[in-house]
Amino acid sequence: MDRDICIIGQGLTGLTAAHRLAKAGKSVTIVDLSDQSGGLAADIPCGGTTVERMYHHCFASDEHVLQLAAELGLAAQLKWYRPSNGLLSGGKLYPFTTPADLLTFSPLPVWDRVRTGMTVLAAKRRREWRTLENTTAKSFLIAHAGRTAYEKLWKPLLVSKFGDDADQVSAVWIWNKFKLRGGSREGLKEEVLGYLDGGFGRLGRTLAERLPADVLLRNNETALNIRRINNGYAVETDSGIITASAVIAAVSAPVFNQLTDALDLGDYRSRLNAVRYKANLCLLLSFDAPVTPFYWTTVCDRLPFVAAVEQTRLVPAETYGRHLLYLSRYLDESEPLWSETDDRLASVMKEALFAVFPEAKAHCRGVEALTRSRYAQPVIPLQYSRRMPEISTPLPGLFLAGMSQIYPEDRGLNYAIRLGNETAGLILA
Ligand SMILES: Cc1cc2nc3c(=O)[nH]c(=O)nc-3n(C[C@H](O)[C@H](O)[C@H](O)COP(=O)(O)OP(=O)(O)OC[C@H]3O[C@@H](n4cnc5c(N)ncnc54)[C@H](O)[C@@H]3O)c2cc1C
Repeated sequence: MDRDICIIGQGLTGLTAAHRLAKAGKSVTIVDLSDQSGGLAADIPCGGTTVERMYHHCFASDEHVLQLAAELGLAAQLKWYRPSNGLLSGGKLYPFTTPADLLTFSPLPVWDRVRTGMTVLAAKRRREWRTLENTTAKSFLIAHAGRTAYEKLWKPLLVSKFGDDADQVSAVWIWNKFKLRGGSREGLKEEVLGYLDGGFGRLGRTLAERLPADVLLRNNETALNIRRINNGYAVETDSGIITASAVIAAVSAPVFNQLTDALDLGDYRSRLNAVRYKANLCLLLSFDAPVTPFYWTTVCDRLPFVAAVEQTRLVPAETYGRHLLYLSRYLDESEPLWSETDDRLASVMKEALFAVFPEAKAHCRGVEALTRSRYAQPVIPLQYSRRMPEISTPLPGLFLAGMSQIYPEDRGLNYAIRLGNETAGLILA
C-alpha cells in the first residue's frame, strides 16, 4: 500500500482532514484536479492582494473558522465589519439591514412586516429542528409570516437559490439561515460579518503550505475511479494510481457516485443518486466608483443574477485599488445560461446590472473573474436526516465528506472545517 490515506479534494474539508491525520502520524496523499488550494473559496490576485473568485464572509458564530484562523496565526487578520443589505423588488431598492428596515418595507402590509420580524426572531431562538423536517420552507413561512410576506419576500429568495426546487426545500434550511444571521448579531443590535485580509482563499493556501513535509499534495490531477484491492483501495487518476488503506472523497455526492461506480455500495447508492445540487455562475466585475448602496443586494426581480455582492461595501475599496462587485446566479445545468460562452454570459449579466444602475456602465473596468461551479449548493429536501448519505459508507475505510454531509446546518466554510476534522476523527477512532 502506497499510503495510509488518499484524500480526493483540497478544499477546506480535505485539507483540514489531511492536517489532522498527518499530525496523528498517518501518511497522506491529496489529489485535486485544480492547481489551487481552497476549492470553492479559491482566490485570484487583485490589486496587490487576493480576493475570492466567489464572495465569502463568515459569521460571529463560526467557531471552527475562528479556531482555524487562530491556529494558522491569522486571527488578527480576521476583521469584523458591519454589512449593509438591500432588496431589489419591483425595480426599487430597499434597505434591509436593521429590524427598522423591515418595519418600513412598504411592499408588505404593516402586520406582515411585524409577523416576518417575529418569525425571524423565533427561529433564531429555536434549538429543536427535527419537527421542522416534515415541513417545507414554503409552508413554514406561510404559516408564520403570512402568504403575502411569502409571495413578496421569501418566495423570490427561495426561487433565486433553488429555482424549480424551491417548493421542495425543507424548513430546516430556512430555519438555519435565520439562525446564522441572527447568531451574527446580539439581540436587535447590528449584524457583523468576518472577513480575512486577503480573503478566505488564504485559509486553504496556508493550510496547504503548512502541510507536514511527508504529505504529498498532487495538483492538476483528477481522480477517475476508486477500486477495492486487498486491505484497501486503488484510486485511479489521470496521472497514475494511488493505493491507500482508506480514502476520503472530499467532493460532491454526484462526483463520488461516479468515482465509486464499480463498487457495491448497496442502499447507500440510492442515497447518493437522490442528492441534487444547484450550480452557480459568479461574475466578479471591477469599477472606478461604487455601484450599489449595499454590501449585499438580494434580487427579488427576474434578472440573470440573484444577488449583487459589492465586496468593497464591506472591505474598503483602497484594499484593491478598485471597487469590486460579484453577480451571482444559482441554476440548473439544463438552463440555457449555464452553457453560454463566457463573453455572452458576462455581457448578459452586465446589461442587466446597467439597466438597474445606469451610472455603473461608465465606471466599469471589466471582468476580474467568471466562475462556474457545477456543485455549488445541495438542495435539502424533507427528512434529509434519513436520506443523507452518511460520511461513513458501507465499505470500511471509504468516506464521503462533502457539502451533502453537512446537516442540519447549510454548507459553509465553518462546516467544511468541522467536517474535515470529524472525518479524520472517524479514521483515527
Ligand atoms: C457562490 C458561493 C458563495 C459562498 N459563500 C460563502 C460564504 O460567504 N461563507 C461561507 O462560509 N461559505 C460560503 N460558500 C460555501 C463554501 O465555499 C463551501 O462550503 C466550502 O468551500 C466547501 O469546501 P469543501 O472542501 O467541502 O468543498 P470544495 O471547496 O468544493 O472542494 C472540493 C475540491 O475537490 C476537487 N475535486 C472535485 N472533483 C475532483 C476529482 N474528480 N479529482 C480531484 N479533485 C476533485 C475540487 O477541485 C475542489 O478543490 C459559498 C459557496 C458558493 C458556491
